[in-house]
Amino acid sequence: MFVAFEEAGPHPCPNTGPSFLNGPYRASVCHAPQGRQRNRIGQNLKKEAAPLPIRIFIDQGHNPQGVNAGAEGNGLREQDINYNVGSYLKELLDGDPRFQARVSRRTPTESLGTSNATSLRARVDMANSWPANYFISIHCNSNPSPTLNGTEAYVYQQNTQAYWLAQHILNGIVQQTGIRDNGVRINPSLYVLRKTKMPAVLAELGYLSNPRDAEKLRNDQWGFAQGIYLGLLSYFGFRQL
Ligand SMILES: [Zn+2]
Repeated sequence: MFVAFEEAGPHPCPNTGPSFLNGPYRASVCHAPQGRQRNRIGQNLKKEAAPLPIRIFIDQGHNPQGVNAGAEGNGLREQDINYNVGSYLKELLDGDPRFQARVSRRTPTESLGTSNATSLRARVDMANSWPANYFISIHCNSNPSPTLNGTEAYVYQQNTQAYWLAQHILNGIVQQTGIRDNGVRINPSLYVLRKTKMPAVLAELGYLSNPRDAEKLRNDQWGFAQGIYLGLLSYFGFRQL
């Protein structure tokens, strides 16, 4: 095993704000203090033995049908794309010993809960009881206006680990797929952001209702997963394997 600081490259984020995480995980985020202070803290943290692998819970938004089914557009069903992208992301994380990943839906036919409320609660309960270190919920957007397009991410509040992670995830998705970057948005009302006990990001990959986004969502699902994975690597300051 290794300590995140030893592998950390240059940190793209200038933030040095307070960490919302407890314990040695502070070593592995990109908002750690820089320079001499960072080295000193890094040495202290080495003694604590950073607890890799980092546990990522991937929530593939919605159910295949019935309660809590997703949006539809241009011949696509949101829940199918969410399922595939989440499964690809798990595959990428499973191939990287620095991470451990679990998904909310293990098969394309698995449904969670018997209502919207219990479906969402089941996902949050799985992440909290693991316990995951980070929660990523994958969704696709839809709007009555077909011109709206782009990828965006929601977090509970600004200037938190989730907020910074969301920025890295969006950067990764935009780099990999060429989709428009709509930025990170704050939404404290979303259940999965409110009730998870770890930093949580809800990613809306793109608009099913926009023909160009829909084409990417149909043809480049691996690219979206890889974008999220590269965003995670960049957030933690990890090199690509
Ligand atoms: Zn959704």
